[in-house]
Amino acid sequence: MSDELPAAPHTIADFVRAYEEDGTLRGFRCAHCGLLTATWGLRCPRCGERDRTEATLSGRGTIIAFTVLTVPGDDFLNDAPYAYVVVELDEGGRITGWMPSVKEDRQIAIGDRVHFVPSYRPGVQLAKDGGAAT
Ligand SMILES: [Zn+2]
Repeated sequence: MSDELPAAPHTIADFVRAYEEDGTLRGFRCAHCGLLTATWGLRCPRCGERDRTEATLSGRGTIIAFTVLTVPGDDFLNDAPYAYVVVELDEGGRITGWMPSVKEDRQIAIGDRVHFVPSYRPGVQLAKDGGAAT
């Protein structure tokens, strides 16, 4: 195994913060097994392959898990309560994000359609499709 790091067109920080700066969600697709992840990493978390292609994610998908947070960290103190969600993207892969428009459990359901909302705020912000909060 080589200690050499794979070349990348940007730094990890650029990758992680792209959604804040240019409104783009970035991910990686594994050249071996096809797994798509929205998380930066040197290897595929499923098969360990290093050959991964950068992909731009649609930010559209379906809620597969959620919780309504009432006690957030400092960055989100003024937003609580809000929903913290896991979303299965239309193109495959899962992302976590937050939804400031959701204040109670009954405002959200497994299977709800959501989309990415570019924002200056930290984290991946999402809103329900067809909602007024876009
Ligand atoms: Zn893989």
